[in-house]
Amino acid sequence: MDRVIVVGGGLAGVRTVEALRAKGHQGEVILVSAERHRPYDRPPLSKAVLAGDADDTTVDVDWDELRCEMLLGERATALRPGDPSGGTVVTTAGELEFDGLVIATGARPITLPGPGGRRVLRTVDDSRALRARLAPGVRLVIVGAGWIGAEVATTAARKGCEVTVVEAADAPLSGALGPEVGALTARWYDEAGVRLRTGAKVAAVEPGALLLADGERIAADEILVGVGVRPELDWLAGSGVEIDGGVVTDAAFRVTVAGALRSDIVAVGDCAAWWSKRYGRRLLVEHWDTALNAPTVAAAALLGEEGAEYDPVPYFWSEQFGRMVQYAGYHPVAERVLHRGDPDGSTWAVCWLTGDRLDAVLTVDRPRDLVQARRVMSAGTPVDPDLLADPERPVREATRR
Ligand SMILES: Cc1cc2nc3c(=O)[nH]c(=O)nc-3n(C[C@H](O)[C@H](O)[C@H](O)COP(=O)(O)OP(=O)(O)OC[C@H]3O[C@@H](n4cnc5c(N)ncnc54)[C@H](O)[C@@H]3O)c2cc1C
Repeated sequence: MDRVIVVGGGLAGVRTVEALRAKGHQGEVILVSAERHRPYDRPPLSKAVLAGDADDTTVDVDWDELRCEMLLGERATALRPGDPSGGTVVTTAGELEFDGLVIATGARPITLPGPGGRRVLRTVDDSRALRARLAPGVRLVIVGAGWIGAEVATTAARKGCEVTVVEAADAPLSGALGPEVGALTARWYDEAGVRLRTGAKVAAVEPGALLLADGERIAADEILVGVGVRPELDWLAGSGVEIDGGVVTDAAFRVTVAGALRSDIVAVGDCAAWWSKRYGRRLLVEHWDTALNAPTVAAAALLGEEGAEYDPVPYFWSEQFGRMVQYAGYHPVAERVLHRGDPDGSTWAVCWLTGDRLDAVLTVDRPRDLVQARRVMSAGTPVDPDLLADPERPVREATRR
């Protein structure tokens, strides 16, 4: 394989470049990225960068050593996949032929109607701009009580802003965790002095106010829309690449074009809906751990390594209202929820189970539970639900051998 083009300079893109070189790829590697910045980490953008405790999150990579040409500020606009002997990426600056292609264009925030509906937080420029506007007494209205909304509310409240979070569902994090578990986090807003308005649908984001569907106006000095993301796939329109929510891939991130599996094109990171053997379905995981670890498998597949397969227990974390919140697993497959510790206390966990199978866990300031539960899930070890419910007992001691 002579020339590999990586489209997207986020974490998944850069990690794929590194993995290609680590696996001995000697040919040309070109990274095309719409952003003008070198690849950087996004999780601090709603935490340390927004708080002013950090400013630069550039990924520490020796680009010369990687022998990677970076085309920054250049956007892929179309793909002509050709056949497995080579295709073409069309960019804002011209055309690039490839022998191997990595689709790593990530995701972009969903926007809302109205002139302020595009005020989102995805890039380092977004974070710095919002940071400059957050000052004591500033009325910040955040649309969406999801991960980003909760993290920004935390940081802004600490800076002395008057924060209101408006959420269409009846509880925070409903979409991610379900209403029952999401509701357990509602009191955190109150304790932090953040006003949480649930069951409130937004009609439009106007200058200086949020207009709700029932006609109410919430006055604001600043508005942030944090209602989720969609994979960034417009440039693939008409290419024949199979898309279903994200780019459809097999367990090695190979994509299908016009019905045929392609070994020369992979998709990885927030834009990929990959086949999970563990869960028997496609997963679209928009989290850092996948962007960090999946590229090794994608690079292996592109280089034709036998047996390349990604099959982890998915993981992510969030820092909100002074708490470290961590999640591992996949709860939509679970039959029931079990509490481990008192959710009104300072540390607790929730486990999702099917019979004696642990499907997922959410931990609040209990990192050891998270690590042990992830191991239990990875190994598929059955658990004793009664023992698991006891927060005094390590998770690993709640297994049935
Ligand atoms: C504010 C914030 C906080 C987060 N916090 C956490 C956290 O605490 N925990 C966690 O697990 N995850 C967190 N995440 C999610 C995590 O950062 C993402 O899962 C990760 O960045 C995905 O990496 P990626 O490379 O797949 O995509 P991206 O980071 O989206 O990178 C894709 C890149 O491709 C570029 N691109 C898009 N289209 C084109 C095109 N047509 N041509 C060329 N380039 C293109 C984009 O501009 C972008 O630079 C957070 C995300 C954000 C935004």
